[in-house]
Amino acid sequence: MNEMKRSKIVIGNWKMYKTIEESVAFVEELSPLISDQDPMVYLAVPFTSIKPASEAAKDTQIVIGAQNMNDASEGAFTGEVAGQMLVNAGAKFVILGHSERRIFFKETNEFINKKVKRALEEGLRVVLCIGENLTEREEGKTHSVLETQIKECLADVNQLENVILAYEPIWAIGSHQTATPEIAQEAHFFCREFIAQNWNQEQANQLMIQYGGSVKPENAKALLEQPDIDGLLVGGASLSVEVFSKIIHYQSDLNLGNHL
Ligand code: PEP
Repeated sequence: MNEMKRSKIVIGNWKMYKTIEESVAFVEELSPLISDQDPMVYLAVPFTSIKPASEAAKDTQIVIGAQNMNDASEGAFTGEVAGQMLVNAGAKFVILGHSERRIFFKETNEFINKKVKRALEEGLRVVLCIGENLTEREEGKTHSVLETQIKECLADVNQLENVILAYEPIWAIGSHQTATPEIAQEAHFFCREFIAQNWNQEQANQLMIQYGGSVKPENAKALLEQPDIDGLLVGGASLSVEVFSKIIHYQSDLNLGNHL
């Protein structure tokens, strides 16, 4: 199953950082640094920056997306944003199920499943975040947590070609405690096997699974060299062009040398 050649992807998740001006300046500074040899580069920007960042990213290799959306197509949901509005603003993808939304906004797998289906209907690519917390890992429940999240968040989703799975162990997010490449690979392999058993082998082979949690230039290469790690979801280290571009250029030894 690992022989399948999948493209690599690096996604920056800016969370609640950057004004419109800062977002546009970032895209303008980063885009000339990306070449065809590099992984695909996605930026999940705040809602307010989607349109201007998409315009700045036009004709570049940077793809702009959002960090959340509502499951309804429209309606009286004060403060919410619909998938069709994201598309209209220029978003090509949306992150769903991030642990910060599960923890702070009490999002359940069932609710996330509704959003996943709506996002796919609207033509958005979905980056679905899953991952265990520290207690669950210490109690040996990692596999059952991942299984439940995948099963429930992707219930009735048959077409996986527009889904990217992001394994983000909660204990590694913003904690400077990155999962080792071996720990991450084991979890990714487990998820791929689970998809093979519950969808089919071909879909499992094609599914992109990326790792997120305290990714930095120093650990990007070792993670991306694992057979089942197809990309990285980067939070804090995606806020600086200098640092983020070093992750994108993970294959360059010169680049890594600056950080070791
Ligand atoms: C994230 O929030 O998706 C994330 C991976 O954050 P960080 O890289 O800061 O751990």
